[in-house]
Amino acid sequence: MPMQDNAHQHDAVIIGGSYAGLSAGLQLARARRQVVVIDDGRPRNRFASHAHGMLSNDGRPGGDITGDARRQITAYPTAQLRQGEVVSVQRTDQGFSIAMADGAVVEARRLLLAHGVEDTPPAIPGVKERWGQTAIHCPWCHGYEIGQGPIGVLSQGEHTAHYALMVAEWGAPTLFLDADVQLSAEERRMLDRRGVTLERTPIAALEGAAPQLDGARLTDGRLIPLKAIFVGSRVRLSNGFAASLGCELADTPVGPLVKVDPMQQTTQPGVFAAGDLARAASNITYAASDGMTAGQALFRSLLMEELA
Ligand SMILES: Cc1cc2nc3c(=O)[nH]c(=O)nc-3n(C[C@H](O)[C@H](O)[C@H](O)COP(=O)(O)OP(=O)(O)OC[C@H]3O[C@@H](n4cnc5c(N)ncnc54)[C@H](O)[C@@H]3O)c2cc1C
Repeated sequence: MPMQDNAHQHDAVIIGGSYAGLSAGLQLARARRQVVVIDDGRPRNRFASHAHGMLSNDGRPGGDITGDARRQITAYPTAQLRQGEVVSVQRTDQGFSIAMADGAVVEARRLLLAHGVEDTPPAIPGVKERWGQTAIHCPWCHGYEIGQGPIGVLSQGEHTAHYALMVAEWGAPTLFLDADVQLSAEERRMLDRRGVTLERTPIAALEGAAPQLDGARLTDGRLIPLKAIFVGSRVRLSNGFAASLGCELADTPVGPLVKVDPMQQTTQPGVFAAGDLARAASNITYAASDGMTAGQALFRSLLMEELA
């Protein structure tokens, strides 16, 4: 028999208590709404020692930023943070029923999905153990810290050339291309102008004492010295909750994400989504901003129901 969390139903439950979820929770707590934020402690940037590019938090460990946010939210009497994993979500007559791995069930009138995404970088030996350190996807987050020098670019798909042109700002790049990737004459011209070296021999493995990177060992035996490698990663949703509720997904350059309107409302009534799981170009600031929008929109939807 599942344990019922509370005698009363909450106004909102938020799955994912990181940048997006905590930002939404803060708005709801400030409107004196009963909000529960559930999180199991696996933010996407946990592989990186520090976060960059967020105003007034540049260079702080990501966990310190969310730690401050957690402390500030729990000062509001109507907000609850719960540590644990959500295992299923269901629509009920009154709203939503959220089951946790520890057997607890949380009931709420509205649901915000803020559980983020998982990166799916290419399965080249050496990428996984360097992820977030010397194998990175976002130049804005960690490019400056490389300090210039030889860098690699590993990317597939239609944005490959654009990605290499951009990251050339943070070092002298070698672009590793699959043998079958064709570049247009214009792309070649721009890559040449940016000083990008093209390499079509596949990488066998990244070498060095991880997370340090010495270089990329190619299948023909050559070692291309590198300080870091940019990896144009695709992502997948960390959970199937959106699909199980019937929310539409949208195709994006990084993979299918939850479709939302400008107020972070999904295609299902009462279900909102914010953060990386609902936007392709992602970072902490965007996640916090989307969370704020979602929190306020969710509040408005509760109010309109009460006034109906
Ligand atoms: C290696 C790396 C480094 C990065 N560095 C930077 C940087 O320096 N600056 C920057 O601006 N951006 C950076 N980013 C991007 C940034 O991490 C994301 O944009 C941001 O974390 C998105 O916030 P979010 O709240 O949407 O999701 P997340 O931060 O990923 O949080 C999702 C939360 O949901 C929880 N969750 C998931 N499933 C469940 C479940 N079933 N039950 C309970 N909880 C659940 C997770 O534990 C997690 O805490 C980096 C990304 C990566 C991959």
